[in-house]
Amino acid sequence: MYDLLVIGAGIAGAVTARKLAEEAGKKVLVIEKRQHIGGNCYDEADEYGILIHNYGPHIFHTGMEEVYSYLSRFTDWYHFGHEVVAKVGEKLIPVPFNLHTLHLVFDEEKAERLERKLVETYGEGSRVPIMKLRESEDADIREIADYVYENIFLKYTMKQWGQTPEEISPEVTGRVPVLISYDNRYFQDKYQGVPKDGFTPMFERMLDHENIEVRTGTDCRELLTFKEDAVYFEGERFDGQVVYTGALDELFDCRFGRLPYRSLDFHFEHYDEEAYQGRSVVNYTVSEDFTRITEFKFLTGQQHTNGTTIVKEYSFAYTGAKGEIPYYAILNDENQALYEKYKALAAQIKNFHLLGRLAEYKYYNIDAMTKKAMELAEQLK
Ligand SMILES: Cc1cc2nc3c(=O)[nH]c(=O)nc-3n(C[C@H](O)[C@H](O)[C@H](O)COP(=O)(O)OP(=O)(O)OC[C@H]3O[C@@H](n4cnc5c(N)ncnc54)[C@H](O)[C@@H]3O)c2cc1C
Repeated sequence: MYDLLVIGAGIAGAVTARKLAEEAGKKVLVIEKRQHIGGNCYDEADEYGILIHNYGPHIFHTGMEEVYSYLSRFTDWYHFGHEVVAKVGEKLIPVPFNLHTLHLVFDEEKAERLERKLVETYGEGSRVPIMKLRESEDADIREIADYVYENIFLKYTMKQWGQTPEEISPEVTGRVPVLISYDNRYFQDKYQGVPKDGFTPMFERMLDHENIEVRTGTDCRELLTFKEDAVYFEGERFDGQVVYTGALDELFDCRFGRLPYRSLDFHFEHYDEEAYQGRSVVNYTVSEDFTRITEFKFLTGQQHTNGTTIVKEYSFAYTGAKGEIPYYAILNDENQALYEKYKALAAQIKNFHLLGRLAEYKYYNIDAMTKKAMELAEQLK
């Protein structure tokens, strides 16, 4: 009845399903355990009519033309250059740390001198990982690095990951750059913004195809079983392709132990005010227990007179308890070795493909995930 089973209706699953249904005429069943499609990109209007991102703020950004044009088939965009500030003491300073930030935190004469040195050493327009700056021989550069490390990086990272920066993989620390430019944007990609009328309608359009059936509220473990190297769907051997985008340890009942993740607790608050912080995202890098506050109307460009909704994000260690969601894989050698054991189990099943931030146990942005899904779909055609 089906040629392809796709587990998970996030961006990985939705793109794969659409491409194979449309371009290869495959009959696709998408199985999603949540009550809705969209995965972590899901958004909806709250009780005050304000569009919120239920699983944290999502901003689409990419330099990949093929990804932008593919997703643009299913949505128009509200384009904006996403900017983030950090609250340090009473100041709001642009992050990533850039030359504007430099002039805000050091006195004018010193900032001028440091700017010249940064430009001479690393080149105008470059991005230098904070860990690299800290290793510099130059005392001035180390002073900047120490400022960034203490006020932007250290406590924020510890809150986010529950670890010291030294314990965290360079893949993660490497993502925290200092920008040798006056660009206040958080991302430097050519395209950035959010779907004009929300992520969820974009997913609805993507999955709206005669060859696609979607079952929400269904955990694939209720329907799929594995015997030797074969997949069984509702008790029958299934020889079509299966694309799995869920957590790999959970699929195999965590038989080698749980893969560690960070989870997030989202506290939504509504205020009967025009604005709460007047900007989309403020990171709390030195104070508070939460990592950041997002004010949705400034992220999505909505015009609202009836108040404003914000969300505070608290990070904690995922335990697998009911209702918790694994968000960020914790990348280190030990966890990778554990993941490889599960991957080896999955590899025995030739028609079973792992795709996505959970199944591959790594972080993906929406654009990278879309690209990877497009590539897998090409292979499976
Ligand atoms: C807080 C946060 C903020 C982010 N912000 C951005 C951003 O600003 N920009 C950006 O580009 N990216 C952002 N991302 C990354 C983005 O969310 C991911 O790229 C994207 O979600 C990956 O898509 P996915 O399909 O792999 O995973 P998901 O979106 O998690 O989808 C996987 C789906 O599989 C389902 N599933 C799992 N197990 C089963 C099962 N057993 N049976 C049935 N269904 C199952 C899940 O319910 C889920 O819906 C952010 C991520 C987080 C956590």
